[in-house]
Amino acid sequence: MKCDKCGAGISAEEKFEHSGKTLCEDCYLDIVTIPKTCDPWAVHSAKSTPQESDGLTAEQQQLLDLINKTGPLTAEEICAELSIDLSEFQRNFATLRHMELARGFKKGEQVYYTLFNDS
Ligand SMILES: [Zn+2]
Repeated sequence: MKCDKCGAGISAEEKFEHSGKTLCEDCYLDIVTIPKTCDPWAVHSAKSTPQESDGLTAEQQQLLDLINKTGPLTAEEICAELSIDLSEFQRNFATLRHMELARGFKKGEQVYYTLFNDS
């Protein structure tokens, strides 16, 4: 079995379905976590101000602190904890993922989010 997007070999365990396509975990997470209407880097640089450490916005830092402290968590848990909606979470998470600070993984039928270097 192969990923329809990047062609990587995938096992039934790692298989994700999206819009009728078979995808590997990376491609699936790219699609579900990156909003189509905006570039996470554009949002990131537009929002950045000098007092933010490591170039993260306050929301991104809160998200990172949360999964560092209590992760891995589902998107719903993170949204409830931080009082943000799913699109805000996806936008912030996409930036963290591109910076290789956080990542998602699938456990059973749920997708969890954790630190990038968490095993
Ligand atoms: Zn793929």
